Amino acid sequence: MLEYPRFLTPTMKRFDPADLAGDTERLVVRHRNGECERKYEAFYCTGVYGGVATGYAVGCCLRCCFCWVYESRDFPERFGEFHSPKEVFENLRVAAHKHKVRKLRISGAEPTLGKNHLLDLLELVEASEFSLFILETNGILFGVDKDYVRRISKFTKPHVRISLKAGTPEAFAQKTGAKPESFEIPFQAIKNLLDCGVSFHVAAMSADTRIVSSEERVSLARKLMEIDPHLLLNLEEEVVDPYETTLARLRYAGLKVEWPLNEVYTPIKTQLKRIRQASQLPS
Ligand code: SF4
Repeated sequence: MLEYPRFLTPTMKRFDPADLAGDTERLVVRHRNGECERKYEAFYCTGVYGGVATGYAVGCCLRCCFCWVYESRDFPERFGEFHSPKEVFENLRVAAHKHKVRKLRISGAEPTLGKNHLLDLLELVEASEFSLFILETNGILFGVDKDYVRRISKFTKPHVRISLKAGTPEAFAQKTGAKPESFEIPFQAIKNLLDCGVSFHVAAMSADTRIVSSEERVSLARKLMEIDPHLLLNLEEEVVDPYETTLARLRYAGLKVEWPLNEVYTPIKTQLKRIRQASQLPS
């Protein structure tokens, strides 16, 4: 491993996110007693998604300037403990039963790092009483490894939320630290998810007028439309939230963002629904 990228700065050497995934896996994934273990910081329940038991994992293959997760993203070797899939499932089960929720997820990191760990965990979820496993991903590994997506498609419990970070190659490099050509990888992941029939929807950091120009937003929408226009009808658009870690990362990245947020774009899905209603097309 050459220099491991930490906080994104304007002069940071652009990295290949698939390579960074491999470098990060060497820090947060290990094999012990025939099991593929992954590093986690905590297990708890949170109110998002109407209540979900959550494993807070460690390590990511992007360096988004608006990322809210703790410093474990940047220094994965310093944080968390290794857990086998069985331990993770048991910890999620205890948290879920304590708070009477039926959904599970991994957060705080990129959950697709450690393919065998995630697939083994999903086997346990599949055979369980839980109805839904929410898989939030940046789409890098699902874009470069279609076999991974194919294997996810064998399970009935996962729903993937794939999160797009930018609408052009230049903006993707500026906001994530990755090489501009890797901008295409998450869109390839979307194609793979569609091809393999996995339940998913797309989210995008595209509602915040402070960090996304209208041209970039149009470019992102156009790319999704080219893949499948229906993707836009369920597009979940996000804004940057002022977590302490986010504010520090924006400063490191040299991005000046004013608070509070005074203006957001009208969601694309709302605009499309209005157009449909105006033209009285069936929805
Ligand atoms: S926002 Fe998500 S993809 Fe981006 S660095 Fe943070 S955890 Fe990784």
